[in-house]
Amino acid sequence: MFRHTNTNHIRLMVVGEPGVGKSALIVKYLTGRFISEYQSDFDWKYSYQTNIDGEQVHMEIIDSLTIDDSHIRWAEGFMMVYDVTNPDSLLKVEQIKQRLDTVRSTKILTMIMVANKTDLEHCRTVAREQADAMAVRLSCGHVDCSACGPETNVRFAFDELCREVALA
Ligand code: GDP
Repeated sequence: MFRHTNTNHIRLMVVGEPGVGKSALIVKYLTGRFISEYQSDFDWKYSYQTNIDGEQVHMEIIDSLTIDDSHIRWAEGFMMVYDVTNPDSLLKVEQIKQRLDTVRSTKILTMIMVANKTDLEHCRTVAREQADAMAVRLSCGHVDCSACGPETNVRFAFDELCREVALA
């Protein structure tokens, strides 16, 4: 079984500084399409059925403007997104992690770090080594993505987070 419980129902939250591409990544995962300007004045909760490793999985994904305590308690897995052209967005990941740890207290935090906008490699200002070192410090996976590039890496990032939640 994909999961130890009797239902493959997984709750995810995508977090990161505004503008890093959270909505674009979710829409890419759900539809396979890149939507360059997306209405993101509201919190959204998406519901999605997919197949991971031969198992049907029902996912709920929150894309929120603000990181609400109730959402932090609700989610089982967190995708921490930063933008490779914005060093502040990488620092924000560590701040968000501290916030999540505080709210969740002793609960295990399952998370993955996503480097988005890798199609803008020529504009990269976040050193890969610095981001890798942060992922080691935060004990989480670290995946390169582009919401406007091939779907493969985006799919891998969400599926991998689901697998980790299922194993936690
Ligand atoms: P959010 O505020 O984190 O949800 O960010 P959005 O998804 O609204 O994206 C912010 C801006 O970045 C939009 O103009 C998107 O078109 C752009 N964007 C998002 N992902 C990518 C990406 O992978 N590559 C590039 N070049 N632009 C992106």
